[in-house]
Amino acid sequence: MPIFPKHGARCHCGDVILERALPNWVESSRRYDRSVCKRKGEIGFSIPLSGLRIVQGAAWLTRYQLFNIRTAKHCFGKVCGIYTHHQHRFDPNVYA
Ligand SMILES: [Zn+2]
Repeated sequence: MPIFPKHGARCHCGDVILERALPNWVESSRRYDRSVCKRKGEIGFSIPLSGLRIVQGAAWLTRYQLFNIRTAKHCFGKVCGIYTHHQHRFDPNVYA
């Protein structure tokens, strides 16, 4: 799949559609080491909060906040349960 400066993403059932601004391509992709991310096999990259737009289905997102300090916010489609993105624990101005 090609990656464009405005890159779309959707959950499995298509209720939630996101658009992510990637003006500098994908920078600093990495595999996260938190337990929930390891279990998902997540490879991610960070974008500023202003670079994420929920095009459709904000009402179809649900949030899971990690059990320890409840700062990272992981978002999932309510219908299909697919992880779409999360807000960083250490920098709430960044999404992955
Ligand atoms: Zn879905």
